Amino acid sequence: MNTLSITVDIEDWYHIPSVTGSPFSVYKDVNEFFKGWKGRYDYLTEPTKRVLDMLDEFDINATFFVVADVVEHYPRLVESIVERGHEIGCHGLHHACKIDPKTKEPLMSVKEFEERTLEAKEMLERVCKQMFKLTNAAIHKKIFSSNS
Ligand SMILES: [Zn+2]
Repeated sequence: MNTLSITVDIEDWYHIPSVTGSPFSVYKDVNEFFKGWKGRYDYLTEPTKRVLDMLDEFDINATFFVVADVVEHYPRLVESIVERGHEIGCHGLHHACKIDPKTKEPLMSVKEFEERTLEAKEMLERVCKQMFKLTNAAIHKKIFSSNS
């Protein structure tokens, strides 16, 4: 038996440091970015769907490390990953730099890092728990309807 571990990062081009999340970013943060860009593109949904289809084809489960703000900006994307039986991992709240690349100084305190990580974890857990409940409801309905 062969074992294969696959992880996928779910992040978008606006997560790179030159766009958001660093001292030299064009936009202060992800929210400022979306004020100008929301609805103008979607480079994340279709490529993720293709990856999910490929994983289905080979009957492979993967872990998807998701930047939590994806939940807000791509409402059905994380749900579609969970629905297909994959594990969700946390890839931070906004993919922000924690250390200044030039000065090597911290860009946030330990407390702020912990708060952001906890917020990200909670955002992702809400989607996963909601999907778990929906999946259970679907299973119960199927069992109920097959017994009747
Ligand atoms: Zn990343």
